[in-house]
Amino acid sequence: MSRKRNKRRRAKEQEEFSIPRKSIPADPSKQAPNNSYGPPLFYEDLVFWCRDCGSKEIWTAEQQQWYYEVAKQPIYGTAVRCTPCRAKVREAKEVQRQQMEAADKRRAGES
Ligand SMILES: [Zn+2]
Repeated sequence: MSRKRNKRRRAKEQEEFSIPRKSIPADPSKQAPNNSYGPPLFYEDLVFWCRDCGSKEIWTAEQQQWYYEVAKQPIYGTAVRCTPCRAKVREAKEVQRQQMEAADKRRAGES
């Protein structure tokens, strides 16, 4: 039974890997300034595993283009988390920010 499930999972992984890789040309002039010898000239769909939950994700060529050319992120940066985990991190940061603000206000009130 479990063997069967493994087999099915492997088939699914194969399927994911065989997604036709798309590549779109990069525009290095739009990337954040860098002194890299080889700035990426193409973006290609990338498979990665989420740092937090380990789920397998695809960082698409379009997402990379946006990340490097619109968001102007360093070209060494790369996707490390899946979308739900990214949202969780963002949320945690926001809570932290609010707590710090509240603490600042309390301190201001004390003085
Ligand atoms: Zn995740």
